[in-house]
Formats: sequence, structure tokens, C-alpha cells
Amino acid sequence: MTGSGQAAYEARRALADCVECMEFVDVMTYLDELLVDKYGYPTVHEARRQELAENIRLGLVAGYTPGQMICFAWRAADTAAGWKERNARMGPPEASTATIIRNKIEKAIEVHHSIPEYDTSRWRQPPVALFALRKLNADVQRVFDRSVIEDCPDCDHQGWRETDAETLIRCVHQPASVDEDPADSAKD
Ligand SMILES: [Zn+2]
Repeated sequence: MTGSGQAAYEARRALADCVECMEFVDVMTYLDELLVDKYGYPTVHEARRQELAENIRLGLVAGYTPGQMICFAWRAADTAAGWKERNARMGPPEASTATIIRNKIEKAIEVHHSIPEYDTSRWRQPPVALFALRKLNADVQRVFDRSVIEDCPDCDHQGWRETDAETLIRCVHQPASVDEDPADSAKD
């Protein structure tokens, strides 16, 4: 996965695409569950799903995290339900969420709103595979991250490290996530 060459590059690309796709499906599913379970509306209608899909993609491409997208979905459903209560002529809330989520994302991009990350794990489990693939993807991305490479003392500026056998291998930049025993690092 961290190797060089076209095949490894394509494997990394496929992994990133797969995670992106799962994040996207997860936001769609969350919104549907919210409409049905919290508000008692139907799921977003087939005819509006394409538009909703494009709007969710817009947010992910703009760099919002899955947690922030969950926040947009929550606010969109909440706004749609509020409108519905005040004005019956607004049409079904499950239909207007697609438009509302777009407005909220565009507005946030325009005025640089800071959007909180919503964690839904207390009452809802995202697919287990999503956690595993998210982590794998993040680990792989980290190996190629410019700033991580620059901070790593073990490799050159392109992320290559020389082994005892005097061959170059891709450095994985000893994980920062592992809690180091201070006594161990003091010995270095
Ligand atoms: Zn390194």
C-alpha cells in the first residue's frame, strides 16, 4: 500500500475513493434515519436523492469532515421541520432538506462559519468497516504527508529511508499516535 509504482498508487487511490464513498453513504443514511426516527417523516424521495447526493458531495469536496457533514444534515432536517410547522405550504420537509443542506453548506463556505463536529456514536453506530478503513486510509495518507516527512528524523525529504542493507525503503515515520514511554525516549 505504501510502495512506489503505479499499482501501489492505484491501490491508495482506490482506498481513498472507497472511504470517501462510505462517508458519503453514511451522511445520506444518517439524514434518512433522522427524518424517519426523530421527525416521523418519510426518507428523502427518490426524485430528490440525486440533488441531495450532489449537495453532500459539495460539502465533502469543500473539505468538511464527516462529523461536520453530520452537523449540516442535522441542521437541515431541523430547519425543514421548523418550516413545516410554521407554514404548511412549504411542502414536505423531507423534500426541502436537499435544498436546505445546500444553502447551509454554501453559506458556511462563503462566510467561513466554523461548523462543529457532531458525534453520533452514542445513539447510532456507523458501519464498523468505516472505522477500520478510515484508520487505514489515514495511516497511509500520513506516510505521504509532507509535514510529517519534514518532521521525521529518519528519512530524507522525499520520505525514503536507508536500511542496513543499503537499500532505500519508504519510511513510515514512527507513529506519533503510539504513546511513548518517556523513559524510553530519554535514552535516545
Ligand atoms: Zn520518516
